[in-house]
This record gives sequence, structure tokens and C-alpha cells, in this order.
Amino acid sequence: MAAETRPQFAIQPHPEPISKGERDALLANPGFGRIFTDHMAIVRWTEEGGWQDARIEARHPLSIDPACAVLHYAQEIFEGLKAYRDAEGGISLFRPEENARRFRASAERLAMPPVPEELFLEALNALIRTDADWVPDSQGASLYLRPFMFASETFLGVRPSLEYLFLVIASPVGAYFKPGKDAVTVWVSDDYTRAAPGGTGAAKCGGNYAASLIAQAEASRHGCDQVVFLDAAEHRWVEELGGMNIFFVFDDGSLRTPPLSGTILPGITRDSIMQIARAAGTEVREVPYAIDQWRADAASGHLREVFACGTAAVIAPIGEIRSSKGNFPIGDGGCGPVTGELRNTLVGIQRGNIADPYGWVKTVV
Ligand SMILES: *Cc1c(COP(=O)(O)O)cnc(C)c1O
Repeated sequence: MAAETRPQFAIQPHPEPISKGERDALLANPGFGRIFTDHMAIVRWTEEGGWQDARIEARHPLSIDPACAVLHYAQEIFEGLKAYRDAEGGISLFRPEENARRFRASAERLAMPPVPEELFLEALNALIRTDADWVPDSQGASLYLRPFMFASETFLGVRPSLEYLFLVIASPVGAYFKPGKDAVTVWVSDDYTRAAPGGTGAAKCGGNYAASLIAQAEASRHGCDQVVFLDAAEHRWVEELGGMNIFFVFDDGSLRTPPLSGTILPGITRDSIMQIARAAGTEVREVPYAIDQWRADAASGHLREVFACGTAAVIAPIGEIRSSKGNFPIGDGGCGPVTGELRNTLVGIQRGNIADPYGWVKTVV
């Protein structure tokens, strides 16, 4: 598969796709990650043949050997992005080449073969073209795309696999958090960290999520929606949530977010927010923020708003922090004006309702 030519996906249509009536019923209340489209993209990699057999085919269970490498050593990475239906009925993606680039970086960290960016993008486009009827047009809804790659060799030795599968599946989604909920509550974990220097914190790999689940369960027990993780070395510096980056808004109008130090996932939403804010003349500092400072700034009123951001939820205001050292609210506990404004701008650009001066929105062709 030459890099210069557009990769070709063989299309093998589903013999019995879901009927329009059934699909419309599913799309009326999709939830998040529960329902899936008719097809999937799949590409195989071997040592000898490289990337090969690119296909769009009926979505179906995979048959893997019990000794499949990923089941034992978790050599797996993924991405997440959304396809949006615009007012004219067209379909677009938001900065998909950034996901392609990050997927390459994650592959490198997990000692996997990089998926050429052209192949990654064509897998998305070919799947969306095939399942275009599944892209919802209702308010707040979109088609969530999940590219992922895993070690598929049948082998129990500890070394990088010699075979991989790269797939893309698609799931129509509504809002990520419960509707009607204005702000989320986060738990500061004393016992658990997400990522350590030299580890995989900056890679989007399933293992990071596996390690975060116990902290997430602890958060739920304390009535919280999400965990905010502190750094592994000093347990003092705010890093990010389990699957979202974090921003702080101060009374002088400036924004602050933890710097990408290798233990934080470089979010595309994070980057987009920084660009939008800076273009509007807002000062954005990428500097570490200590948990004690956070508490003090919330108490003094210097800190006005806090929000989390990522593809799934886009921007979610944080209204309250809970920890073993006590709870404290942010502002009035709801969605602040700066958070709301940023959310409207970003969602507006993503959905084609606001002009896109950045060239971020890519029409699916
Ligand atoms: C995916 C992810 C994010 C958000 O990244 P986006 O590109 O904005 O979706 C943040 N943190 C973690 C740990 C993630 O896995």
C-alpha cells in the first residue's frame, strides 16, 4: 500500500443491515457506547506483508485464540472522535488528522507498527460513507468513532507481537453525562495515580484505563462522576481526569491548564480550547497547579470556574471537588460564563454552526 496513493478499502456490505425503522428507534435514544452501526473497518498487519486486506465489512465478533497476545500483555491502543451532521445534511469530522498523528505516537510508545495517517483517515471515511445513515441529526448527538489496534499474534512470550489488527467501529451517541446535569463532581484520589514519568500516560492505551477503574469506583462511592488524578511523584500537582483534561479559569479572565509533561494525554479538545481562547486574547498558561493552591484559590474567589474537556463530553463544568481532606465548591457550583462561552464556540465550530477559521472541520468524502 503506497503512501502516496489513497488506500483502497474493499467494501463487503452487510447482508442483512438493520432496517430503517429499527435504526430510527435506536437513534431516538442512543445513550453512549451501547449501540453500533452495521459495519466496521478492519486492516491486518504482519511482519512480512505490512498493512494488508483493508476491508469494510459487516460488524461481527472476532475470533481470537486464548493465547492471543493482547489478552495477556495488553498491547492495545485506541482513539476516539466524532462525526457530525451539519445543517445541510453533510457529514464532517473534527481535526481527524490529529487523531491519526496521536495514534502513531501511541503505537510507537506501545512498540506497535504505526498505521499510516492516510490509511487511518481512509478507514474513517470509508466506514462513515458506508454507514452514513447512522450519523444522527438530532441536537447534541453524533457518531462516535473508535479506531483501535491490538496485538493479535498467538504467542505467550513477552515481546512485541508480530501480528496486529487495526479496526474502526462506530457508535451513535447522545450526551456523555446525564442530561439536565449542569456540572460534574470530581473526587481527588489519595491512593491511586494514573501515570508516572516514563510510563504510558501520554499514550491512549487501554491499560491506562484499566489502571484507573478502581479509582473511578472509589469516586462513585463518594458520589462523584469522575476522578482527578495528581502526579505520581509528589502527589501534589493536578494532572487530569481519567479520560479528560482540565482547565482553571481565574478572576482576571486567564486560563490555566497542566503542561504536557509526558504523564498527561495530549487532548485535541485541550489544544483546540487553548487556540480558541488565545485567539480571543485570553491568556492561557500551561503551568503546574497544586491541589492545595486549587483549594485556596477556590476559597478566596481567585478561582472562578473549572472544567474538564475531551471528545466524548466536549466541555464539562466541574462544580464541586471532594477528597479525604474535605469538599469544596467552585463558584456557584454550576456552569460559569467562560466555560459556557468556550463550549458554545467549540461545539458551534464542530457542528458547522459557527465559521471555522482554523480549517479544523473536514468534510467526509
Ligand atoms: C482521550 C483522552 C483525553 C481527551 O482527548 P481528546 O483528544 O480531547 O478527546 C484526555 N485524557 C485522557 C486520559 C484521554 O484518554
